[in-house]
Amino acid sequence: MSRPVFRFAPSPNGFLHLGHAYSALLNARMAMETGGRLLLRIEDTDEGRSRPEFVQAVLEDLAWLGISWEVPVRFQSEHFADYEANLARLWEMAAVYPCFCSRKTAQALALSSYGPDGQPHYGGTCRAISRTDAGERIARGEVHGWRIDMARAGDSAATIWGDTMIAKRHVGSSYHIAVVTDDALQGITHVVRGKDIEPATPLHKLLQQLLGLPTPDYFHHDLICDAEGRKLSKSIASTSLRQLRAGGVTADTILERLGFS
Ligand code: GLU
Repeated sequence: MSRPVFRFAPSPNGFLHLGHAYSALLNARMAMETGGRLLLRIEDTDEGRSRPEFVQAVLEDLAWLGISWEVPVRFQSEHFADYEANLARLWEMAAVYPCFCSRKTAQALALSSYGPDGQPHYGGTCRAISRTDAGERIARGEVHGWRIDMARAGDSAATIWGDTMIAKRHVGSSYHIAVVTDDALQGITHVVRGKDIEPATPLHKLLQQLLGLPTPDYFHHDLICDAEGRKLSKSIASTSLRQLRAGGVTADTILERLGFS
């Protein structure tokens, strides 16, 4: 039997905090206990927010926690062509359509129902544009994003998202298409990530089904909260691993606090 493949896939737009440490340690432990492999993927597609110093910090902080991963590390910013190719396949099968609406227009035309991200469902205006017209507008360089056509998705659990945007104007900054493409290309068998991303999983499964990609096993772990019960976030510096380390906290203490000692 082939070995299970796990991954930790942080976005380098801030310092890792205790929640990331928990996720990374859980993946590392599951890989170890199952005789599996642990891959590291840097999800640096958001060019406005990703920074090299955060990438460096991710590598240092994980090593400090005693986690090791296989090399090479996959950097999403080096693989835009892979995401473009899968997007083109979805467009060929008419599972997605280009949307030319500005954010304002999309909001004005929205339905009264909402997706798990709190955004109102898109009203579907651009779904009605013929492929020929859409192709011409794209060729003319008209700004557009790509929406999934949920009407064609049948009874998929992903319909909770409505015709959500799966690729932005700049395909690079499109989390859903990138994550699904990379999980397949890297042969990931087990996706272990926080409950905050759980609502995206039906969408990822739908994209896998449309693209004929294997669906890994998914496990969504509880989120680590601060003393006040708030979900940790990159904006709260106090729980960043850097800050804890600078304050004299040892890696062993972190492992103990998170239940990995
Ligand atoms: N890059 C995402 C994050 O840092 C995680 C993606 C995933 O695990 O699927 O929130």
